[in-house]
Amino acid sequence: MQIPHDYHTHTRFSEDGDDTLETMCRRAIEVGIPEIGFSEHWDVGPNEKNPYFFKPETWYAEIERLRDVFSGQLQIRAGIEIAEPHLYAKETAEVLRRVPFDYVIGSVHWVGSNFMFDAEYFLRHTADEIYSSYFAELEHMVTVSDIDIVAHLDIPARTAIPLLGYEPSRYEEQVRSILEIIICRGLALDINAAGLRKPAKNLMPDPLILRWYAEMGGGRVTLGSDAHRQKELGQYLGEAMDAIRAAGLSHVTQYENRQPRLIHL
Ligand SMILES: [Zn+2]
Ligand SMILES: [Zn+2]
Repeated sequence: MQIPHDYHTHTRFSEDGDDTLETMCRRAIEVGIPEIGFSEHWDVGPNEKNPYFFKPETWYAEIERLRDVFSGQLQIRAGIEIAEPHLYAKETAEVLRRVPFDYVIGSVHWVGSNFMFDAEYFLRHTADEIYSSYFAELEHMVTVSDIDIVAHLDIPARTAIPLLGYEPSRYEEQVRSILEIIICRGLALDINAAGLRKPAKNLMPDPLILRWYAEMGGGRVTLGSDAHRQKELGQYLGEAMDAIRAAGLSHVTQYENRQPRLIHL
């Protein structure tokens, strides 16, 4: 089964990405993915190591060049992954005016000064404290942010599972209330396979949460490997598609100029 797209990818335009846009495009063609979306990090918070690292104009010029180079072979979308857009509305609006993005992914990487990939933080708190405070922050993010796609809905699990475990059913009420807002606003879920490369071995969101979403009437999902280097492109997206179908969904959503379009799986 062909993987229709990979919408969550990073290049050297992200501070933690390894490869060029062109290398990633060539890799997409090599592994048979017809559409790639680049979603570089836009991080502006006070605790970021490299705030404002991403240079949208230079990046977009290269995307336009590659659209010509790979015309007829590969569809290239211009996305962005904005960290905590609800806390930085002004900076978000400013970056979104700089180039024509096809879609905007919103993420929560920080809850206050706690970084969701910091194992030390997870060791100092209980699982309930960590997940509940994260979901409260995420609810704020999905309520007010100018975004199209919600990144890795239960991201603390990726680091926390080997240390503290994860039982999504303990947070069902909180998560359902987030899903309700996502559905009402017509946002999509990033079905993020990065955890499947890690010791946590988790898909985000957890398949149980994906089932709640489908039951509640949610229908918009995108596929994301969250690749930071070419070899990770498309990785485990077959498993992500299986989880989407197992939840009872039959489409993924593609974006052009921030307009969604459903594609049958
Ligand atoms: Zn992220
Ligand atoms: Zn990412």
